[in-house]
Amino acid sequence: MNILIINAGSSSLKYQLYNMQTEEVLAKGRVERIGMDSSILTHEVDGTPEVREVSEILDHTTAIKKVLDMLVSRKFGVLRNIEEIEAVGHRVVHGGESFSKSVLVDQGVKLEIRKLFDLAPLHNPAHMMGITAVEANLPEVPQAVVFDTAFHQTMPPNSYLYAIPTVLYRKHKIRRYGFHGTSHDYVSKRSAEYLGLPLDNLKLITCHIGNGASCTAILNGKSFDTSMGMTPLEGLMMGTRSGDLDPAIVPYTINKEDLTLNEVNSMLNKHSGLLAISGISSDMREVIEAMNDGNEKAKLAFEMYTYRIRKYIGAYIAAMDGVDAIVFTAGVGENSDVLRKEVCKGLTFFGVQLDEKRNAVRSSEARRITTDDSKVSVLVVPTNEELLIARDTYRLVLEKQAADSSLL
Ligand code: ADP
Repeated sequence: MNILIINAGSSSLKYQLYNMQTEEVLAKGRVERIGMDSSILTHEVDGTPEVREVSEILDHTTAIKKVLDMLVSRKFGVLRNIEEIEAVGHRVVHGGESFSKSVLVDQGVKLEIRKLFDLAPLHNPAHMMGITAVEANLPEVPQAVVFDTAFHQTMPPNSYLYAIPTVLYRKHKIRRYGFHGTSHDYVSKRSAEYLGLPLDNLKLITCHIGNGASCTAILNGKSFDTSMGMTPLEGLMMGTRSGDLDPAIVPYTINKEDLTLNEVNSMLNKHSGLLAISGISSDMREVIEAMNDGNEKAKLAFEMYTYRIRKYIGAYIAAMDGVDAIVFTAGVGENSDVLRKEVCKGLTFFGVQLDEKRNAVRSSEARRITTDDSKVSVLVVPTNEELLIARDTYRLVLEKQAADSSLL
């Protein structure tokens, strides 16, 4: 079965086409600048050079049409015809409390996603445009939605509630939801597999450190606590996000700097984090480079960033009364041995013995970077959110087919 995975943003859309028998990516690409002049479709088939096509793509329906045309094109395509796509899986950022697992799309599901627009105003409307665009182009093909928040729905109330008047939770659902759930879910399963231990008897801390960053405490296979909150702003220091801060800073800054709420929101989400402290970049590679060249601000940014990760790991070890393995994933977590070393430096008390040689190895495979006799294992596990979305979609479609055929 071929499954198309879509990650739709407001003016962009990423796609991957999977063959689920082999779990091979047949083609992938992205459409950028949807609704603007000179939209760009970039398409890639393994082993051949990237194709770039510039045209006017006014909306998501046209964007999906262009992607489908490319997938069946004689020159760059990988399919004979469009009927070879048997299902579509979408990434959806916010599932609120309505979704604790992936589901097939129907009218009720679309209604629920719409109800959640308020909680994720930048993301959910864009995902809905992706779903509608697929419906318009492939009306007979089943679609599934996989939520970034769903994995964290197992958190107990003492993890997810904020200590504010409970009416705000009851009326407006203000609580911790957590994000990157697909990634934390994927790497926790992969880690258990790598360790050869049952996931339902493991204490894991997964650190998804990319442009956005979050840590999750995973107790016996279930999310127990996570650093992102009602929105992805809370928790670790990130590329351009502040992470945790005293909430009183918001009204204080509004007063002192004569800012609007939107301006403060934008400051905390887009102009803070690594970018603000280093004054150089939100890109960890550039910050590390500058630090190595003796830039003091870059050094401070790196120290603040790694210190936060270490503090969360410490907190989650206490929260779970122990830890079996700490797992690094995503752009920074997978690629920066310098960052991993700095984080692990403060974890020796808990029994983390980093093996510097193992830590320095670059590989796209899951691996252990602690010594054989380290009490706690530290792993690097490449994440693959698209594969998890594809697997969930595949499972849901097969279940539906089985249910339908048993009714016949
Ligand atoms: P996103 O959250 O956008 O999915 P990624 O997981 O792709 O982000 O991570 C992007 C980040 O990974 C960038 O900030 C980039 O600097 C960082 N990164 C990639 N390679 C390295 C490296 N070798 N050292 C440090 N950081 C790296």
